Amino acid sequence: MIYKSQLESLSLEVLLFIARQLDYLSLVRLAATSKRLSCLTEDDMLFKELLFLDYGVSYKAPDETWRKQYENKWSDTSGRRICPHLSNVTDDILLEKAETFKAAQENKVYCSRCSMSQFPNLFLIMEKVENDVVCRRCLKEYIDERQAQKSNHGVYLDMNTLKLRCFLCSMRRTSLGDFGSDRSEQYKCEEILEVVLAGTERGKERVDLILKRKREKAMYVGQQEELASADFKNLAYNLIDAHWMGSFHLFIYGEYPSPGRITNRSLTKRNGSVIPGLKLYGEDAALVTRTFWNYLAEEYGVEGKSITEGEKIR
Ligand SMILES: [Zn+2]
Ligand SMILES: [Zn+2]
Repeated sequence: MIYKSQLESLSLEVLLFIARQLDYLSLVRLAATSKRLSCLTEDDMLFKELLFLDYGVSYKAPDETWRKQYENKWSDTSGRRICPHLSNVTDDILLEKAETFKAAQENKVYCSRCSMSQFPNLFLIMEKVENDVVCRRCLKEYIDERQAQKSNHGVYLDMNTLKLRCFLCSMRRTSLGDFGSDRSEQYKCEEILEVVLAGTERGKERVDLILKRKREKAMYVGQQEELASADFKNLAYNLIDAHWMGSFHLFIYGEYPSPGRITNRSLTKRNGSVIPGLKLYGEDAALVTRTFWNYLAEEYGVEGKSITEGEKIR
């Protein structure tokens, strides 16, 4: 039995050594017992180390601390939100895969097993292995072999859908970085796609789309917060066709295609005046802030007209 006072007299080096042997809860509890020991949880790099030791995860979103990321992984008990195997996809591997992807797209690469299938019906194994391109038919064989070898690399890229998957995260039904996965995983996947695909036309489009979704998600959430805030009454807002808003929602959150031009024509009569008695909050029309409306109108174009708050009562 070690007493707290004995612990407190130890050097920081020794304390950090002890901290590495503790599980997360014990560490946080110990750190809470005294000012001297609180230094244990102040060192964010310690959490980086622990995250890797305990879970094999070595990535996080840039605006997050390692401690927060540790908590995220700690609470991801089913392993559905943060795939540790993405950590093995290093920058070196990425640059190599970018070359392979480019060659595959130029039809210079075939399935390394059956030599039959061509781009885009191929999977790119995100690991430093000789034969890193396989077709759908040969994928299962490849996975069985790698699992028998107890490989720690499970991530592969579907060149057709441009989705990353992991065959070691058996609880995962969806692709990595999808909606529902942790923000850090989404970030890591975006980064991987960005590097692997950036050199190609399709890659550039895809990267642009990823960034557009990300940007619009942030704007959408921001304006929802504004609309829910206390000075809602002083806020300038617009009416937007609820059906279009639904498609937009699916676009930013559900990987659906772009919603196209805003269909505000459905909210006005033939003479241009707003249909009386429109149901707000999602049935006929939705409210958006003026700033968000201006962005959407510019980005998507409008069929019909811009309807500001004053007109809705007319
Ligand atoms: Zn995984
Ligand atoms: Zn094959």
